[in-house]
Amino acid sequence: MSTTPLLKVKNLKKHFPIRKGMFGKTVGHVKAVDDVSFFVNEGETLGIVGESGCGKSTTGRVLMRLLEPTEGEIEFDGKALTSLSLEEMRKTRRDIQMVFQDPYASLNPRHTIGKILEEPLIVHGISDSKERKKKVNEFLEIVGLNAYHAKRYPHQFSGGQRQRIGIARALMTNPKLIIADEPVSALDVSIQAQVLNLMQDLQKEFNLTYIFIAHDLGVVRHISDRVAVMYLGKMVEVADSEQLYEKPLHPYTQALLSAVPVPDPDFQKEQIIIEGDIPNPADPPTGCTFHTRCPFKMDICTKVTPQLTEQSTGHSVACHLYESQVDNDIKQLEGSL
Ligand code: SF4
Repeated sequence: MSTTPLLKVKNLKKHFPIRKGMFGKTVGHVKAVDDVSFFVNEGETLGIVGESGCGKSTTGRVLMRLLEPTEGEIEFDGKALTSLSLEEMRKTRRDIQMVFQDPYASLNPRHTIGKILEEPLIVHGISDSKERKKKVNEFLEIVGLNAYHAKRYPHQFSGGQRQRIGIARALMTNPKLIIADEPVSALDVSIQAQVLNLMQDLQKEFNLTYIFIAHDLGVVRHISDRVAVMYLGKMVEVADSEQLYEKPLHPYTQALLSAVPVPDPDFQKEQIIIEGDIPNPADPPTGCTFHTRCPFKMDICTKVTPQLTEQSTGHSVACHLYESQVDNDIKQLEGSL
């Protein structure tokens, strides 16, 4: 795995306007992604984890510009994606592909698998039909299916097979980056492991870079080199996979991790129950947005937003418990009152 970033994201925001009344007046914003910065190195897997509504899927869509960012910079393979024209972005999508949670919903039920897999090749200008068919057969076999499956329809496959087709479709244009949005969440646990193993094998074979989005830290553990934890549109902790699982710092990460079952029950940590529901992203809590549910809440937490700061090499957290700046913040706060 290289240490050259393939993707660099700086201060990314995606705010959706809330409109009301006959004239659609904007009365507020849902801050789905709120000032997020991160990078992904070539050949690595970054897991992005959080509860539904935390902004992880929106982040994936904004990276592909399926949704336009409100603010921020996205640099992919040396290109500033946010300044590309729609036509240039369409060409660049050849290098960035997505795998979706529900492969059935993303596969056209009226098309054969062969036609579905040929489509990205047609879009990206591979006009020779023989060449396309050869590639379809080749990729069906690469993902563990057979060439004769090209003549079948999506409903003739199991959930796991359909996800293999979704992965084959993403691979058809030889992408560099694959954004996998909850790719195994809809599958049985035994099938999940098979699909994860397949994704790992393909990563090695094709030197792929992955962003792997999931709501469960257990699922991303083995596939991710680094993990970013999101809460209400912000990244609250980023670390190497090993560090994050061995020594989670943010109270939210600690709670998510305590809910992951371990093979030996003697080593199961006591589950930390997070009280309450995820707050309304249209009206997020002040200061640290996790303060309404945090068992370690301090006065400063309701007033000052903690910044993501590095605690040890590659391990950053946004929490006042770890800020050496905490005294300064309190003084700053007292000064502003
Ligand atoms: Fe909890 Fe405060 Fe840390 Fe937020 S900043 S996670 S409320 S201790």
